Amino acid sequence: MTRNTLHPRDEIMQTMDRIYRYRMTTTSGGNLSIRDGAGDIWISPARVDKGNLTRGDIVCVHPDGTADGLHPPSSEFPFHKAIYEARPDIRAIVHAHPIALVAFSICRQSPNTRLFHQAHAVCGKTGFAPYACPGSTALGKSIADTFSQGCDSVILENHGVVVGGSDLAGAFERFEAFEFAGKTLIKANQLGVVKFLDDDQLKRAADRGVDFTSYEPDDAVAIERELRKQLCDFVRRGCRQRLLISTEGSFSARVNDDSFLITPTQRDRELLRADDFVLVRGDERENGKLASRAARAHQAIYRKHPHIQAIVFAHPVGATAFSVTDIPLDVRTIPESYVFLRDVRRVPYGIQYRDDGSIADYVSVTNPAAVLQNDGVLVTGTSVLDAFDRLEVLESTAEAVINAKSIGKVSVMSDAVIEELCTTFNLK
Ligand SMILES: [Zn+2]
Repeated sequence: MTRNTLHPRDEIMQTMDRIYRYRMTTTSGGNLSIRDGAGDIWISPARVDKGNLTRGDIVCVHPDGTADGLHPPSSEFPFHKAIYEARPDIRAIVHAHPIALVAFSICRQSPNTRLFHQAHAVCGKTGFAPYACPGSTALGKSIADTFSQGCDSVILENHGVVVGGSDLAGAFERFEAFEFAGKTLIKANQLGVVKFLDDDQLKRAADRGVDFTSYEPDDAVAIERELRKQLCDFVRRGCRQRLLISTEGSFSARVNDDSFLITPTQRDRELLRADDFVLVRGDERENGKLASRAARAHQAIYRKHPHIQAIVFAHPVGATAFSVTDIPLDVRTIPESYVFLRDVRRVPYGIQYRDDGSIADYVSVTNPAAVLQNDGVLVTGTSVLDAFDRLEVLESTAEAVINAKSIGKVSVMSDAVIEELCTTFNLK
């Protein structure tokens, strides 16, 4: 793990900026805090525009209750303090009112995170804290009691969500995964019966690993440098467009017959730089870096399909909602969707974790994208841009189908129309 050298002021500011950009808080709602080694609690201020926070706006509250800062601390400071007192292992807290988790909060439910192995692992034990007035000691007690039971991700009745973590990056990751599970459940409920994972299925995902030995590559040739830049740009764009989650999913590009570049494991996708991508060659990976755990699945696809130049495993909410139901994602909706995606296959749970390469059987020239049961989507392309473009088309198609269901009966294009498209666009 890399050593954190960011000042708490900057960490809070950057995380708040990101939560606001991802539309997971309003300008007035939400607050973040960090407890440092000296026992000081750094917290976002009360009544300051969350879209324009500066480092000087962050308040430091000392253990004796005195505070340093230009503003008073967040009015929710009492519950932050109560959680830190109840749970010495928690060093950072995120509180906000993101729309999906608020929907659960007003239905007095907590989302079942057994939807995805990642959400289940990252969110930890989830809980539900009964209502009390904002800013009150009673609310602090209600939340701290729920955290005392070992919960790390807690829905607040008729209010929002609070998550804790061993640092702010971890708390943010948990917050994002929890909201993602909530959003997907809401969309999936509009489609049909939602399927959850059992213990055995969760274990299969956790047990996978990567087995490459390390090597020292020669100087990077121009094509490798170009692909690093493209991957870096598109991964960042994917996070910002909410097609990728910050800590899950993988993106790769083929360098030559047996080499490709891929996202590193367990790193924040939005912050990746070009030299963070890992070069994999045969059974070896670049010295000093760890390839995504999906690297063997990418490799199997490149080996079987010489035309594929880029691959992305991602979790866009709309298409992922299909992945947690048995409803097929039929993309014969508009010409663009069919021309780019052709027929989207479904991959049974866990195929992509196996080391027999069978995931490669689910994609081809006529099946460039697939829905992975309870694990998002897989999209291939003839370039990094092509894969990204298809990922966007897949997600907008899924969203359109989900929206259409609330208006009327979805009618897909007929076989005659599909044939005409195949002829016109020269599709095999
Ligand atoms: Zn609140």
